[in-house]
Amino acid sequence: EPQNYDVVVVGSGGAGLAAAIQACDEGAKVLIVEKMSTIGGNTIKASVGMNAAETRYQRLKGIEDSKELFYQETLKGGQFKNNTVLLKEFIERAPQAVEWLAAHNIELSDITITGGMSIDRTHRPADRSAVGGFLISGLVKNLNKRNIDVILDTSVTEIRYAGGAVQGVNLLNDENEVLVVNAKSVIVATGGFSANRDMVVKYRPELDGFVTTNHKGATGSGIAILQNIGAGTVDMGEIQIHPTVEQTTSYLISEAIRGGGAILVSQAGKRFFNEMETRDKVSANIIALPEKFAYVVFDEQVRLNNKAADEYIAKGFVISASSPRELAAKLEMNSDAFLASLESYNVAVDKQDDAEFGRRTALRHPINQGPFYAIRIAPGVHHTMGGVTINTDTCVLDAQLQVLGGAFAAGEVVGGIHGGNRIGGNAVADIIIFGILAGQNAAKFAMR
Ligand code: ADP
Repeated sequence: EPQNYDVVVVGSGGAGLAAAIQACDEGAKVLIVEKMSTIGGNTIKASVGMNAAETRYQRLKGIEDSKELFYQETLKGGQFKNNTVLLKEFIERAPQAVEWLAAHNIELSDITITGGMSIDRTHRPADRSAVGGFLISGLVKNLNKRNIDVILDTSVTEIRYAGGAVQGVNLLNDENEVLVVNAKSVIVATGGFSANRDMVVKYRPELDGFVTTNHKGATGSGIAILQNIGAGTVDMGEIQIHPTVEQTTSYLISEAIRGGGAILVSQAGKRFFNEMETRDKVSANIIALPEKFAYVVFDEQVRLNNKAADEYIAKGFVISASSPRELAAKLEMNSDAFLASLESYNVAVDKQDDAEFGRRTALRHPINQGPFYAIRIAPGVHHTMGGVTINTDTCVLDAQLQVLGGAFAAGEVVGGIHGGNRIGGNAVADIIIFGILAGQNAAKFAMR
């Protein structure tokens, strides 16, 4: 007995939840299908925040920003490979998306910075905690207030598509039962494929052996499902390795630690690169070290600026010491070299001029207040910039750039927006901006 819906949302990460909420508010009957046994996808692990320029929260803090600058810096960070039409839509809609969240009682009122950006534009919770858990719990509260069906432990295996229009989806639950759902629109919000080693290595053989920061549901199934109905793909080989990943647990050390004033130090006790450069470049410079790892080094002031730091301490990632010399000893590092590195960094902060490495942002304060902390890190597979092709209405496009009727996609499953390297804070913006839009358009399409 098939069930009937207007809109089926595949995936319960940030993009899927925002889409479902918006589609419901447009009057559509909505079903969310999630293959894992919990809601939240990889979004729940998002650390740093949500980028947007010209927001109310920036104005409240006296931060002057412009959409044009955000656009230019994202394009440069993306190695000028971004789909500029989608990127413009993204930049334009970002402040509205921050307000959409606020209107849904999800306030991102504190602001920090990430690599490749020149201005504080990464919006995060007021208590400076990681954005992912906060976002998902806020979205789930909104879900609970609405009449939206959610089915867990169940995968969408196929979109039924005939005569140029979506007919529905087929599901497979964890008891191997096939369920048939009729729907006029489907929103694919299945995330990326960082946890699918074969797929990563297929496109980027040199990434074999790298850990991944992603949850195990990040397998890229949505890409294959959409390809089966004719969807095109773009940038599949553009895969981001995040520079600061704790290697024994694959746990991501947030860019907000560097954005709060931390530095990177090699085993030789030396800074080696501008810590606030984009992720691709910072990662490449860690891999270029003879030991292929480095330390995130910070002091008490940085810890107080970021709630995640306490989580890292609790998880046992952090080596702490009462003095820089003691920290160097614990890291089996040349302490004279380490002390000299700290000293010259602190001079750079005083002058607000890092002549040696050209760091221009997050020169927040000298690293001089104990305790002193270090976390050993190396890069890990983090984000897949490639994915299916969409237009600015989130309609999925085929290889000839024709719309597939009733098929929508949003979030990491989509390719093109981030080009060759995604900026920290742009994934959360992406999923909310295009999630809302997909919800709106899929509902309108279904009820037209
Ligand atoms: P985004 O950041 O784009 O919102 P996430 O990774 O946060 O993406 O969420 C994607 C969600 O989609 C994950 O929870 C994942 O388990 C789920 N998912 C992936 N493939 C399928 C599928 N075929 N059927 C149902 N859910 C899926």
